[in-house]
Amino acid sequence: MGARTRLRGKRGALSDEHGFTLVELMTAVFIVGILLLIATLLYTRSISATRRITCKSNLRIIDGAISVYEARFESTPDDIDTLKTAGLLRKFPVDPHTGNMDYSIVAGRAYSEGGHQDYP
Ligand SMILES: [Zn+2]
Repeated sequence: MGARTRLRGKRGALSDEHGFTLVELMTAVFIVGILLLIATLLYTRSISATRRITCKSNLRIIDGAISVYEARFESTPDDIDTLKTAGLLRKFPVDPHTGNMDYSIVAGRAYSEGGHQDYP
């Protein structure tokens, strides 16, 4: 009987120590918030980098088709449609920045309507 009472008393004492204080909870929430912020920033940055790389790749493909067109027909194509008509582009790549297929040819090089032409 005496041991039971002692256990109950011990349990009661332990249960008082089990909760978290407000400061501990706020610290945990703060740390989780910081981690989520970092993850969001890294995700956004990787999405941006992926779009840039895809855009560069698309422009390289179009520039390659322009080079083939120039070698084959000895003239510069007027627009992207000319490349497709000549069978050099099966389909137009989509600019991941704008979500459109708006590419133009200026002085024998491809540009996206978003103004991207920054690959070396
Ligand atoms: Zn772009």
